[in-house]
Amino acid sequence: MKVKVISILEDNYMYLVIEEQSKQAIAVDPAVPHRLLEIVKREGLFLIAVLTTHYHWDHARGNEALVNEVPSLKVYGADDRIKGLTDKVTDSQELKFNSINVKCLFTPCHTAGDMCYYIWEDECTDAPAVFTGDTLFIGGCGRFLEGTAEQMHHNLTKVIASLPQETKVFCGHENTIKNLKFALLVEPENEKVKEMLSWARARDDDDKPTVPSTLKEEFDYNPFLRLS
Ligand SMILES: [Zn+2]
Repeated sequence: MKVKVISILEDNYMYLVIEEQSKQAIAVDPAVPHRLLEIVKREGLFLIAVLTTHYHWDHARGNEALVNEVPSLKVYGADDRIKGLTDKVTDSQELKFNSINVKCLFTPCHTAGDMCYYIWEDECTDAPAVFTGDTLFIGGCGRFLEGTAEQMHHNLTKVIASLPQETKVFCGHENTIKNLKFALLVEPENEKVKEMLSWARARDDDDKPTVPSTLKEEFDYNPFLRLS
């Protein structure tokens, strides 16, 4: 499976998960719908589903326009506040789109209805991927707007941390430099933080995304995954 990273708005990411043989595509947090549809058309893809991590406008505001354009489209999410929702999902629910599998991981805290999506393809050697919205960021985590620190700790160290180490992490925002500066305050001697920060700065200079990382890498430098 292929994941297309699309930078939008100030520092958001939307994604297309593509089953290469069938050209079927699943969008994650497509907040700029016309741009998404342009890419779908240009690449000859068939958009079949939308996965929404949470109801905030910079993640969910494209849903209704996409449903208008693609009437058969399924829009998944865990929160009734998500615009355009067609199929409400619950924790550990699994969805299947041909050879693409999605496991829903309920991670309330940033909002009370946050869902992460763990995705893998049958008979495919590509690493699995997790779409973490505003729960896990590269080098950091999201704000606790509707939950507690305990919930976020559980989400990160129990729910997400239990996924395979090689899982690729695709998050909702490009906050990496800011997060790693904080990580360096927490662990001034951590060489992995220093290496990652200089790499992230070079990516920024080239105007390139720092997604994806891997879960294994996050354990090396993300202070919120290093709390025992
Ligand atoms: Zn948010």
